[in-house]
Amino acid sequence: MKSKEYFDVVVVGAGPAGLCAAIQAARAGVSTCLVEKNGIAGGTITAGGIPCPGIFHAWGRQVIDGIGWQLVKRTREESGNPVPEFSDTNLAEHWRYQITIEPMLFAALCDEEFEKAGVTIKYHTMVGSATLADDGIELALCGKDGLYPVFARRVIDCTGDANVARMLHAEMRISDPCQPGTLCVYATGYDPEKLDIEAIRKAFDEAVARGEVSCEDTGWANSFNAHFLFGRGNNSNHISNINAADSEGRTRIEIAGRASLLRLYRFLKKQPGLEKLEFKLNAAECGVRETRTIVGKATITAEDYAAGKRYDDAVCYAFYPIDLHDAKVGLDKRPLAPGVVPTVPRGALIPVNTRHLLAAGRILSSDRLANSALRVQAPCMATGQAAGALAALSVQLQLPAENVPMAELRKLLEANGAIVP
Ligand SMILES: Cc1cc2nc3c(=O)[nH]c(=O)nc-3n(C[C@H](O)[C@H](O)[C@H](O)COP(=O)(O)OP(=O)(O)OC[C@H]3O[C@@H](n4cnc5c(N)ncnc54)[C@H](O)[C@@H]3O)c2cc1C
Repeated sequence: MKSKEYFDVVVVGAGPAGLCAAIQAARAGVSTCLVEKNGIAGGTITAGGIPCPGIFHAWGRQVIDGIGWQLVKRTREESGNPVPEFSDTNLAEHWRYQITIEPMLFAALCDEEFEKAGVTIKYHTMVGSATLADDGIELALCGKDGLYPVFARRVIDCTGDANVARMLHAEMRISDPCQPGTLCVYATGYDPEKLDIEAIRKAFDEAVARGEVSCEDTGWANSFNAHFLFGRGNNSNHISNINAADSEGRTRIEIAGRASLLRLYRFLKKQPGLEKLEFKLNAAECGVRETRTIVGKATITAEDYAAGKRYDDAVCYAFYPIDLHDAKVGLDKRPLAPGVVPTVPRGALIPVNTRHLLAAGRILSSDRLANSALRVQAPCMATGQAAGALAALSVQLQLPAENVPMAELRKLLEANGAIVP
């Protein structure tokens, strides 16, 4: 077995939250390791095929800046597409305020930034076990050659599924049912404008009646959802009733996602104009919207979110409509009132019944409706950066994260470009 490695901070998960947490902690001067089960950073942005982080601007001003935003901006500039100006806000069309980026470039720029900040990266690695010690957390990491021990003074769970929190028996909320997942593809080989959508819809309804396809195979609708073809297979289908928090659930959702695409492919190939249809792989895995959240020292409720509650210990802003994808009800979308910009308290990143652990990204402590807004990529980046700063300061000042002076936290975050309410 490899000899034990020691880090001040171990971040688990290199999605929007984890990559910002690791860069921030390392920049603050503590030894930092980033553990990621895939071979690429970005999480849902890259492996999930959703490269459109949002929302960084609200009501004509920028409300989320910092490490995540800088990476998004550099990705756009590198590809010759500077970020657009966002001078207005119309949350009826909130997707217009998200920024499309090249996922490969984004991941490569993350690698560059990890190296520059001095982050030790461990791709293709998962946490095998986590045990609480007096002064930190004992981890067994699982690499390709097996298990090895690592000691971390602080761990930040950015897995999207609270996997480390679960191993430490932290209290959590488990969504049942949870929002559907979506497996993206790139559909090509046809001209959408030349298709007879009504004829396809009729054939689809007949195929549903025969049990050959399911309405969810094309996403929202009681029938054929033409968005699948016009949007070229992006962010469309729905894979419902599977909680993919653990490897068992994850396995089920991947298989169900591919089965859904296969059913649809077989159906569509038979329709006039779609004979040359191809589904090109553009997501290595099914995108998962919801599994578990931690129970934190503070919990953001939908009421607090909608009211734009200004917490005394706010670490960042968040901005997105409540956006719950419910398999039964449909889309529950509730835009924020004009001028409202919600905030995220530090307490939502600190689990209640364990120590030395922080959490960021979509697992932050929030009720289901508030989480449906907080889960998007820009607030995940901002909460990740805040958790990285908190973990680093809590090591350096030898204080629990909840006792780190807010003035110190603000100073560190602002020095790294973040906007603190
Ligand atoms: C279909 C879909 C569409 C979406 N559309 C948008 C959109 O348009 N704009 C937007 O801003 N947001 C969108 N979102 C929401 C957003 O993408 C996610 O909520 C966000 O990426 C969550 O970030 P995260 O860092 O918390 O987790 P994730 O992005 O899930 O990243 C978690 C990372 O942790 C790794 N990991 C997981 N478990 C382990 C483990 N045990 N050990 C090691 N590594 C682990 C994963 O491989 C992954 O890299 C969408 C989500 C989905 C599913």
